[in-house]
Amino acid sequence: MLGMMMNSPLTIRSLIDHGERWHGQGEVVSVETDGSVSRSTWAEIAMNARRLASALKQLGVNEFDRCATIAWNNRRHVEIYFGVSAGGMVCHTINPRLSPEQLLYVAKDAQDRVLFIDTTFVPLIAKLRPHLETVEHVVIMGPRTQDAATAIDNVLFYDELLETADPGYSYPELAEDCASSLCYTSGTTGNPKGVLYSHRSTVLHAMAANQPDWLGLSARDTVMPVVPMFHVNAWGVPYIAASIGAKLVLPGMNLDGASLVRLIDSEKVSVALGVPTIWMGLLAALQESGSKVPSLRRTIVGGTALPPSMIETFKSKYDVDAVHAWGMTEMSPLGTMNQLLQRHENLPEDEQLKLRFTQGRPPYGVDLRLVGSEGEGVDHDGIATGDLQVRGHWVVQQYFGIETPTLTEDGWFDTGDIASIDTDGFLNIRDRSKDIIKSGGEWIS
Ligand code: AMP
Repeated sequence: MLGMMMNSPLTIRSLIDHGERWHGQGEVVSVETDGSVSRSTWAEIAMNARRLASALKQLGVNEFDRCATIAWNNRRHVEIYFGVSAGGMVCHTINPRLSPEQLLYVAKDAQDRVLFIDTTFVPLIAKLRPHLETVEHVVIMGPRTQDAATAIDNVLFYDELLETADPGYSYPELAEDCASSLCYTSGTTGNPKGVLYSHRSTVLHAMAANQPDWLGLSARDTVMPVVPMFHVNAWGVPYIAASIGAKLVLPGMNLDGASLVRLIDSEKVSVALGVPTIWMGLLAALQESGSKVPSLRRTIVGGTALPPSMIETFKSKYDVDAVHAWGMTEMSPLGTMNQLLQRHENLPEDEQLKLRFTQGRPPYGVDLRLVGSEGEGVDHDGIATGDLQVRGHWVVQQYFGIETPTLTEDGWFDTGDIASIDTDGFLNIRDRSKDIIKSGGEWIS
């Protein structure tokens, strides 16, 4: 017997539709590549996303065609996230820090047909253009400039494309398990591998990642993803912010401590997310500027291990909770986040701190296990370590274009991390079996 409830597909379009209809006045503030600050609303973002989808259709871009971005965290990038995916195409965010060879590799592997770039990347793409064989249209994310028009043959300009496009465009009806976006990970040796997210996995991740013990954002928050939009969809923040109508602050390309302090203070940012190196820069700039960032309540820190002193410095000097999180591209990315349980509330402060240094516990929707070298289960006693394996609603099943199975025979994904889990379920990443290291939140071989 089937349940008798409505069954509307979990699509990315539903997130921005809700943001437009119920939080239309909610603000999106963006530092543009020329340093200016633009202000728009969720209603304007939604309208421009529809315009973009209609413009892409007019260009002959088809369902599931890959539209890539090489861009900072800014307003147009958010419109591309929603317009491309809701329009039935796949948004492929490319990491600009890839070597030119790797960049060409991922664009070819993804068969990108359109490439959106911020003006910063005009010199890079002018050089690579002849080798971007699958790319039919390069679109500069901004108004027309003579420099860009001269540098790249037949280049298009985002603002011109949108001027003549249809703000009332009707998106196609999409099934929730359709592909929505694509992100490559270089967290393993060899060529980068594509993780192809679905509408369903993205929506479930957005809903689960925003539970109170995880991001816990509300319409009264001002959230600033410093984590790049080319790195696992900025940890899902644009999707979450649209669906709950939080004010979104996009910091653009200057992520030095002083720039971030100014932005936090001027826009009254309450929650910010990024890798530890960003927060080290911020703490140094705070020390220098004397600002106490009074609006800031929480920083979510992940990508690499959170340095223990950071929790204490943020709390004692600025009354900010630094919350440790762990995840990966293959997990959309949220795997675990660190919040104490009720029974820890009366522990002495140093014992609480010790727990908070760990990577935390999984939300509903993610399951973890530890496996020993012979394939045996490893106890969750906080001491024994094993290979960390995961499964869940937003975990990769197979890499894009790779036939060999990605999962174990019984359906788990091996993260390449080595960890222990304590009796309360707190994950502690101890080492990694993948022979590659991270610097500033990005992988280097
Ligand atoms: P990526 O796919 O680039 O996001 O990288 C994911 C990998 O980064 C994980 O498998 C870990 O090796 C590492 N990582 C992410 N977050 C943390 C963290 N909080 N502590 C330690 N390592 C982390």
